[in-house]
Amino acid sequence: MVADLSTLTGFPASSSKRLIVKVGSALLVAPDGSVRRDWLASLVAELATRRDAGQQIAVVSSGAIALGARRLGLAKGGRATLEDAQAAAAVGQIALSQVWADLLGDHGIAAAQMLVTLGDLEDRRRYLNAAATLDRLIGLGAIPVVNENDSVATEEIRFGDNDRLAARIGQAARADAVVLLSDIDGLYTANPHSDPDAMLVPLVEMLDAKTIAMADARSASGMGSGGMVSKLQAAQIATGAGAHLAIISGRVDSPLTAWMESKRGTLFLASSKRGARKDWLAGRLTVKGHLVVDAGAAHALRQGRSLLPAGITATSGAYARGDVIDIADADGHVIARGLAQYDSSDAEKIIGKRSEDVAALLGGAPRAAIVHRDHMVLL
Ligand code: GLU
Repeated sequence: MVADLSTLTGFPASSSKRLIVKVGSALLVAPDGSVRRDWLASLVAELATRRDAGQQIAVVSSGAIALGARRLGLAKGGRATLEDAQAAAAVGQIALSQVWADLLGDHGIAAAQMLVTLGDLEDRRRYLNAAATLDRLIGLGAIPVVNENDSVATEEIRFGDNDRLAARIGQAARADAVVLLSDIDGLYTANPHSDPDAMLVPLVEMLDAKTIAMADARSASGMGSGGMVSKLQAAQIATGAGAHLAIISGRVDSPLTAWMESKRGTLFLASSKRGARKDWLAGRLTVKGHLVVDAGAAHALRQGRSLLPAGITATSGAYARGDVIDIADADGHVIARGLAQYDSSDAEKIIGKRSEDVAALLGGAPRAAIVHRDHMVLL
């Protein structure tokens, strides 16, 4: 199967009904701070062709900070301080939207700007709002151009990278595929700059610990700022939500066509659909608390059962009923995520206790489970 599929790995570019394309800053902005307009025009022409062929497209575009930094004369690409990055993004985002609007307009396509913060996608109600707007825009034939709202995002509440943002947008839009156009042409088995034996991984059918370790090794070797790590996190979010994710080179003109022809890149195949609500849970980047469970409870969770107080050995964080919490095994590996059925102050009193004792401890036990299986997703 692997061999067959790897000869077809360019297929999402032409066969996805709904496609998210993420463009990195280094592809959009030249070292002198100007927009790489000719390259972008070649990509936009491809997007127009794909849209005319019936595909629905949304773009996640970086480049605001890089463009604004140049215009404001800021050092370190505008990333020396948070205030610099925010100011650079505010200036650069206008220029960025203008370029996208111009180039898409040349093909008679309306560009639609959407700026989102982490909080917009972490809060369930705001997430559904953003999803509905995306859906409407795409349905109307506009191409949403999404970026993080960097001018108001602060360190604690930002995505920081558009790879994970693209995956979250793919999830919100119920996309079939997310394509990350990058300055690297895929995931390698080792750091390709220092290891001559490093090989491109064409296809990842299941994103397991072995695959994730390839990226860990690379950032440990000091290459970049963990760029591949955020791409793999994006792959985890997208594939878990039923979308394929590809990392391909944007270093060539018409990169989607180049990918379909060369098949060069890394394609992470979508895993089976979990349902929209559980996808949202799994893709959450912030949680309010953590539970640690014993081996018996970990086993029960993997069998699809709810989490009862008896199997919990520790709770941390201040959470309220309905907040999202992580569930880790005794080794500290997060194995599941779900909505707390109890406030943390009550959870502290009942962890490790048998269900029949819980009522006495709390003066009534309205819910048997601390996290019910219907509000839980295994990771
Ligand atoms: N949102 C940032 C920008 O527009 C880019 C984030 C990233 O580098 O992924 O400049």
